[in-house]
Amino acid sequence: MITKTEGIVLKTLKYGEADLIVTYLTPDRGLIRAFAKSSRKTKSRFGSSLEPLTHARIALWGKEQTSLSKITQADILNSFHPIRENYNDFVYVSKLAETLISFTPEAIPNIRLFAFFLNILNIIKDTDLQGSTSLHIISQIRLLKHLGFAPRLSSCGRCGGMSHDFYPDAGTTLCPSCVKDPRHQSKPFVKISNQAIHFYSHCIEWPIDKSNRLKPNQGTLAELSGILDRHVSFMLSKKLMTSKFIENRGTASKRQ
Ligand SMILES: [Zn+2]
Repeated sequence: MITKTEGIVLKTLKYGEADLIVTYLTPDRGLIRAFAKSSRKTKSRFGSSLEPLTHARIALWGKEQTSLSKITQADILNSFHPIRENYNDFVYVSKLAETLISFTPEAIPNIRLFAFFLNILNIIKDTDLQGSTSLHIISQIRLLKHLGFAPRLSSCGRCGGMSHDFYPDAGTTLCPSCVKDPRHQSKPFVKISNQAIHFYSHCIEWPIDKSNRLKPNQGTLAELSGILDRHVSFMLSKKLMTSKFIENRGTASKRQ
């Protein structure tokens, strides 16, 4: 049976001599993996339609419940080529794609998630501020909110009081009186600055284009990025590959 849909390529994996396994985000079938036969051969008719982040109209062959359908056709709707051309944009959007894959179960339709991710790609592609760290962090916060895994940093997760202590194992800030709970007595926590809390709360509440008008300093962005990484690592019990890559790149450039 042939089914037609559209999808954004989140990831590709080489398979055998010339094939690829492609992970797509689709509106009506959610996250799916599909098989692209002989796609790595130079004369492949799939050509560039399987490049990461490409948005394409696709035709799949196989039973709908099959875990791995075969791609029979892929026509590009938007290549998002400018994102792949900008190194920083591509690295951070790859991090968003990895976050999405890690937190999303396969084959659960989610049209809002699809529309949201497509919107992020369009905003990043069209921005004048190419490689903008601020836009990357805002997108990461909004994505986590959309997935239902955003940490709570605006106030204490138990009493709603003011707090600057983020507990990764609780996914929230907790105030000193609520931490009298012996279960949290000796747990590690991270101090968060007022600026980071303020910027984060704004990003959680407002759409991306509004938050993108704020101009947080690089220190605030680095601080939030670190907190989000700790939070995600705790939730997944592992560090994202892209986070490790970005960290190593930072260490390498400091050594130079
Ligand atoms: Zn409290």
